[in-house]
Amino acid sequence: MRAFRSVGGTPRFLVSARGPYVTDAEGREYVDLVAGWGPAILGHADPRVIEAVTDAAGRGLSFGSSTPAETELAELVEARVAPVEQLRLVSTGTEATMSAIRLARGFTGRDLLVKFAGHYHGHSDGLLAEAGSGLATFALPGSAGVPADIAALTLVVPYNDLDALAAVFAEHGDRIAAVIVEAAAANMGVVPPLPGFNRALVELAHQHGALVISDEVLTGFRVSAAGWWGLEAVTDGAYTPDLMTFGKVIGGGMPVAALGGRAEIMQRLAPLGPVYQAGTLSGNPVAVAAGIATLRAADDEVYARLDATASIIGAAVSDALAAEGVAHRVQHAGSLFSFVFGAEAAGAEVRDYATVQRQEAWRYAPFFHAMLDAGVSLPPSVFEAWFVTAAHDEAAIGRVIDALPAAARAAASA
Ligand code: PMP
Repeated sequence: MRAFRSVGGTPRFLVSARGPYVTDAEGREYVDLVAGWGPAILGHADPRVIEAVTDAAGRGLSFGSSTPAETELAELVEARVAPVEQLRLVSTGTEATMSAIRLARGFTGRDLLVKFAGHYHGHSDGLLAEAGSGLATFALPGSAGVPADIAALTLVVPYNDLDALAAVFAEHGDRIAAVIVEAAAANMGVVPPLPGFNRALVELAHQHGALVISDEVLTGFRVSAAGWWGLEAVTDGAYTPDLMTFGKVIGGGMPVAALGGRAEIMQRLAPLGPVYQAGTLSGNPVAVAAGIATLRAADDEVYARLDATASIIGAAVSDALAAEGVAHRVQHAGSLFSFVFGAEAAGAEVRDYATVQRQEAWRYAPFFHAMLDAGVSLPPSVFEAWFVTAAHDEAAIGRVIDALPAAARAAASA
């Protein structure tokens, strides 16, 4: 992704970032709509986060031991996300989902895993089947190097399709350990769950004795104080995933991720239980300091700003594309958003990976490059979400809006 494989051209090498801006090695500044792929919710180099990290670094970089800060971060998460009764810190989202799956298998004594087409959960072997993110960008069905026997343990179902999920459970129900789902899909572009989908999914899995792992690595603490779960608890009736995974915002730009959930399940992790998990850098004190400072600063006002900025930019892009006659649809999941190009998407709600794949994806590269030339850095693939920060002020938003007409013209003539 960072090599611009999808959009072509010369990738940027970034040397610094502040607020809503990033600066490349040639000294050019861009308004940033990538935000480090999500963590920089407050804006880059927020002084509160930098100070917390600097203070922690002065006390030592890594202890290989439990720390009070680790507990404090866990308490912040548990106070926000009710289904999390216990939390285990790891360093990357990949580790979080990988360990959650091992835990689900250990808890249920079953082997099969269900995932959804176009969802991305990191790069562990069993999760690269029809995955989003880089694999969507390069249209890869999976990855070389994954043994067939391991791939065969993952069943892939179309997203937002409860009938297909029910059919898989009818056939394999007593062998399925867990369903893993992005709480709202945002690695094939943004494709939110249909109303009631997550709740029905939990009910169906539980009827068959399977667990649900809700992957909030991307949505967690970004779309609301309690992530996507928090939004749905308000709008769509509460549901309780058995396990949840977090990354990105929870580390405020440093390597922190986590898995958490029902205590009865979490206690099967070593050392209390037989499911092994460990990490030299887990709960790293400097990384955790960034996460604590970020979560503490991410108050209601921050989330309101993210929502407002996302809807202003989303609408402005849509207007610019419409003015040039480019058929498209804006997809929103909270403050995450992206665009699907072409008449099919413009005509009907986009619910799944197959529809996303049929879009006029070639219109994105010229759009992307026109924006980059005008000093706006977008995700370098049509299959990624756009990210705003609370530091995107009027000046930064104005620069995005000014760049849009030329970019929309480039998309129209592609
Ligand atoms: N799950 C989701 C939903 C993600 O978006 C990502 C990363 N984009 C991951 C897992 C993997 O996280 P990491 O890149 O930190 O391994």
